[in-house]
Amino acid sequence: MPFCPECGATVTDDQLSCPSCGKPLIAKEKKEGFFGYLIYGIIAFFIPILGYILAALMKISRPKTRKFVLIISTIGLVLYIVLILLIVYIGLDLLVQILGGSILLF
Ligand SMILES: [Zn+2]
Repeated sequence: MPFCPECGATVTDDQLSCPSCGKPLIAKEKKEGFFGYLIYGIIAFFIPILGYILAALMKISRPKTRKFVLIISTIGLVLYIVLILLIVYIGLDLLVQILGGSILLF
């Protein structure tokens, strides 16, 4: 439960201004800069679990960043699952050969 920064009264997430002193609470919604998105994106992509935890923690103040982190986390998670399935089904040696071969092609 958040509190009004002006008077300390308890406010709910959907309130636009403090019911006690009337101070606008919209400023709470921080806008994330490019680097904020980039850092969150990298974390979420390589460590999807951490991405989900970050998204859960930021849901009140950063709804747009949260949605972005959730999408990237899901993409990262799917890629990890695909990679694990590839390793399980075709074997790590063959995967390294295929990846090595495709790198040599470029
Ligand atoms: Zn207040």
